[in-house]
Amino acid sequence: MAQNRRYKQHKICFLNPVFKHMHGKDKQILAAYLPEKAVDIVSDWIKNKKIHLKIARNRKTKFGDYRPPIHHTNHRISVNYNLNPYAFLITFVHEYAHLLVFEQHKKRVLPHGREWKNTYKTLMREVLDVGIFPEDLAQVLEKSIRNSKASNVSDLDLSRVLHQYDAGETQQLRVEDLPDDTVFETQTGKQFQKGEKQRIRYKCRSLDNGQLYLFHPLTPVTLVEI
Ligand SMILES: [Zn+2]
Repeated sequence: MAQNRRYKQHKICFLNPVFKHMHGKDKQILAAYLPEKAVDIVSDWIKNKKIHLKIARNRKTKFGDYRPPIHHTNHRISVNYNLNPYAFLITFVHEYAHLLVFEQHKKRVLPHGREWKNTYKTLMREVLDVGIFPEDLAQVLEKSIRNSKASNVSDLDLSRVLHQYDAGETQQLRVEDLPDDTVFETQTGKQFQKGEKQRIRYKCRSLDNGQLYLFHPLTPVTLVEI
């Protein structure tokens, strides 16, 4: 029962994302986040290793993470919900490489050391050979596995090309993008209603306590469907 409820919530979270768990059989959900040709590969990986994949809120400091089954029974990978499908896949491959390295070496090797680099290369090779990526991105990825950097965030070439594939809907909404009176949620999960502009910032009313707060126009927000 609990699984069903989670699954339903997950579908809602596509519009109004919150932390959710997902299991390997849910290919439909994967298809909403990944390039079509990658769905089978990734769902096989998830099934084989019994990974709990969490589609996470946007985190500024990372695209995803991997947690070994130390306190929990399953491997856990999280990926930010608002990445474009190519960035989502690359992030998943990065974290999945951590999983494989953990299985073989536990914590005896460096997080992005030789073992991780070789594993990442092998996995990326597999994905590149299926022809999932558009030509420009494939070229940058080929280059990056020849000289594998730890994170795709720090690889400027790669992130520039990836940004070209950001669809409008996956780009971060800011307070200034919202029409007046719109209800939105901040990254801390609090809800506000957008009010008038006062000099630079917007006066927004908290739905928790009715108080007015000033918001910088570039504050990242999520739209609340009501
Ligand atoms: Zn890493």
